[in-house]
Amino acid sequence: MKQIGHFIDGVKVAGTSGRRTDIYNPNTGEVQAQVSMASVDEMDVAVRSAVKAQAEWAKLNPQKRSRVMFAYKALVETHMEELAHLLSSEHGKVVADSRGDVIRGVDVIEFACGIPQNQKGDYTMGAGPGIDVYSIRKPLGVVAAITPFNFPAMIPMWMFGMAISTGNACILKPSEKDPSVPMRLAELFVEAGGPKGLLNVVNGDKEAVDAILAHPDIKAVSFVGSSDIAHYVYHEATKAGKRAQCMGGAKNHGIILPDADMDQAVKDVLGAAFGSAGERCMALPVVVPVGEGTAERFLEKMLPAIETLKIGISTDPDADYGPVVTAAHKKRVTDYIDLAVKEGATLLVDGRDFELQGYEDGYFIGPTLFDNVTTDMTTYKEEIFGPVLQIVRADTFEQALALPSEHQYGNGVAIYTANGRAAREFADRVEVGMVGINVPIPVPVSYHSFGGWKRSAFGDINQYGMEGLRFYTKTKTVTQRWPEGETEDSAFIIPTF
Ligand code: NAD
Repeated sequence: MKQIGHFIDGVKVAGTSGRRTDIYNPNTGEVQAQVSMASVDEMDVAVRSAVKAQAEWAKLNPQKRSRVMFAYKALVETHMEELAHLLSSEHGKVVADSRGDVIRGVDVIEFACGIPQNQKGDYTMGAGPGIDVYSIRKPLGVVAAITPFNFPAMIPMWMFGMAISTGNACILKPSEKDPSVPMRLAELFVEAGGPKGLLNVVNGDKEAVDAILAHPDIKAVSFVGSSDIAHYVYHEATKAGKRAQCMGGAKNHGIILPDADMDQAVKDVLGAAFGSAGERCMALPVVVPVGEGTAERFLEKMLPAIETLKIGISTDPDADYGPVVTAAHKKRVTDYIDLAVKEGATLLVDGRDFELQGYEDGYFIGPTLFDNVTTDMTTYKEEIFGPVLQIVRADTFEQALALPSEHQYGNGVAIYTANGRAAREFADRVEVGMVGINVPIPVPVSYHSFGGWKRSAFGDINQYGMEGLRFYTKTKTVTQRWPEGETEDSAFIIPTF
């Protein structure tokens, strides 16, 4: 059985805690590997190695750090197929989607290559008589990245790409469900010329996360995962005086106005609701047609479109989506479908009994569609994170606007319309962090930044882009003068210029 330990100080090391977790093949349900769960002592070893590496790395000029990021970007691209297949084998998403996972991470590494320009400080000459002021952005030291199972390449790269390029060292604690890609990404970083110890991967569960939260040498924590854990990590990290940005769950709505291009809207919703088996924080699990006629036209096209979906193993090039990640996750999703039926939603397409021939023990769920979902239903209020699409009907624009605005989550939202004025007003007023206008999954490009509102994010600084740079650096402002001649008298009032 393949055993996965940790990656510390530039080498793979076996876990010593004696605790392990199984990793499954979601296509077959078989255990394919085991990953070690780190102890507090193992975390400390990783942090000490990172402290040493960071002291040297921070002394390098920015263009030298940037050159390592350039080499790393090229190397990850060279290993694209290997990474995508490895990712699919543990996560279950189809290989084409895994490539997208890697590419969206590499986009952030590409942004990080521009760090000499972006981390430049500000300088004011002559801010007072013979006085100049300059501000510089210093790295924090050692930071931690705690990541979820659903984007095991992209989200680690969002975090360590920005953390390392700005002069920090990073301890990556990936999801215990699919740790192989994060391990490989760290190995490739060293192969690309990255210093040993600068990017350490420590696998584990709550014990490892708590060790991060308690460690005095970890100065900031970047987290992505479910909201209750995000809230816990944010609370504990900030209580310990660390910086924290903690992204949580989501329930994104797709609003369809009567004048929308319905063919496009249906195609987009189909991909965004069922792609990656719905295991995306920017999926579109709720659709809101505005007006009875819009709802009927949506259903007329969506019902036959769902019939065309092909569910297959993650290496099937024709599959639209693959299995969910674990048996426990499959149960969670099918329990939600059971509950929605009990709550009175109209089940139009039922994916619970779907079986893939030859893969009966795989974690497959067929596409599921509910109509007449209402805001009092638990299955509307909570995140399902599976291939389940819920229709909530609205009569007016104002009602449609209120739904995502009043929901506990505020990650992403999309609106489909041909009316620029309505789209503009919606984008301005909706209480959600990322908005798509005729765009289904509005994950911002690497030079903007990613972050939801309400229970989708705790902390006030987004991931990557210039916000990421600010998160991983602290400002130092120097006021200097070089007086000539006689000394000046003491001043007892605050200096004014
Ligand atoms: P999760 O919360 O179960 O796990 C996330 C991380 O927290 C993992 O590294 C895990 O090991 C750790 N963890 C788990 N239990 C813990 C505990 N009790 N104490 C401390 N740490 C713990 O999330 P997941 O199932 O891996 O990922 C899916 C969730 O992530 C969904 O809710 C999804 O919406 C969310 N997500 C959000 C974003 C975003 O940017 N907003 C992006 C991707 C995923």
